[in-house]
Amino acid sequence: MTPERGVSLAPHTSLRVGGPADFFVLARSAREMAEALRWATEAGVEARVIGGGSNLLVAEAGAAGLVIKTAFARASVEHRGCERVLVAEAGANLANVARRLAKQDLGGLEWAANVPGTVGGAAVNNAGAFGGDTASSVLAVTVVDRTGTRTRLGVEELRYAYRTSALKRRELREVAVESVDWRLTTRPPGEADARVKELNAQRMRTQPRILSAGSVFANPEGGYSGKLIEEAGLKGAASGDAQISEQHANFIVNFGHATPRDVYSLMRRAQNTVFEQAGIWLRAEIELFGRWTEQERATLAGPLARAHG
Ligand SMILES: Cc1cc2nc3c(=O)[nH]c(=O)nc-3n(C[C@H](O)[C@H](O)[C@H](O)COP(=O)(O)OP(=O)(O)OC[C@H]3O[C@@H](n4cnc5c(N)ncnc54)[C@H](O)[C@@H]3O)c2cc1C
Repeated sequence: MTPERGVSLAPHTSLRVGGPADFFVLARSAREMAEALRWATEAGVEARVIGGGSNLLVAEAGAAGLVIKTAFARASVEHRGCERVLVAEAGANLANVARRLAKQDLGGLEWAANVPGTVGGAAVNNAGAFGGDTASSVLAVTVVDRTGTRTRLGVEELRYAYRTSALKRRELREVAVESVDWRLTTRPPGEADARVKELNAQRMRTQPRILSAGSVFANPEGGYSGKLIEEAGLKGAASGDAQISEQHANFIVNFGHATPRDVYSLMRRAQNTVFEQAGIWLRAEIELFGRWTEQERATLAGPLARAHG
């Protein structure tokens, strides 16, 4: 395990924008991830773990320290008493696993069958769709810290809320997700697979199939960010090669050569216009990753967050 220097993060994200990590490691096992964390501690640099990069807006100046990408992806179903439990490593592609299980009439994760990214990313972000989410599907998460100590966290310790968790908010010591236990439910023959196909068709109809990081903003209480952005007349607004999707206004798409700055400026434009017109500050769901300045982060967080420090 020797980290590489100056590896561009753009190909490791779904938006395909952003600069290099100072150091980068593809961890092919949980052991390699733990080794990489120890390496960062010894080198005195910060370490961040990423999965599919499908929720990240990486800064043009890249990311400081070591970025570890999870590439260990074993997944198996265990019988625990009368329960069936999926034990999946952090780098497993959640959608692929959910689809495979549905074909075996194992349900509970149908909602995830089209959510890009990894098991680790979903556990951190509390990924969810179509009324289901990670918080209501997870039994436990195994994490490892920078000293290599492994801990099993029950779902209550993860303090899940809408698209966030104690891991996301960094309330626990700096930890990396190693594997996740998911509760499964046996479904009548064909039912889970049919539901997956139905949700897939719905997504195809409503979401763009161009490079993006999914929903840019979390939905405000009782409303939809996409609707607010559309009502503000911003569908199709562009900055460089980035565009507020004409198909779904809560997506910003990259036509190929967008920069982090293009995406960021469209986010700011959407926030400002919606705030002026509807008095609602849209909260970013995609994560500013890497060398964004404190001011850039604070500006995006909005006037209320700034007032509360
Ligand atoms: C087209 C599209 C559609 C989408 N639709 C949805 C949707 O319906 N619902 C939804 O919730 N999301 C959606 N998303 C966003 C994204 O799929 C989710 O946020 C997903 O859970 C991110 O997983 P990831 O592996 O890509 O995480 P990343 O983007 O790589 O990382 C996300 C966060 O998790 C951390 N992280 C990742 N892995 C680990 C680990 N092993 N240990 C510690 N920290 C880790 C990262 O540091 C970062 O803070 C969509 C994205 C796209 C591109």
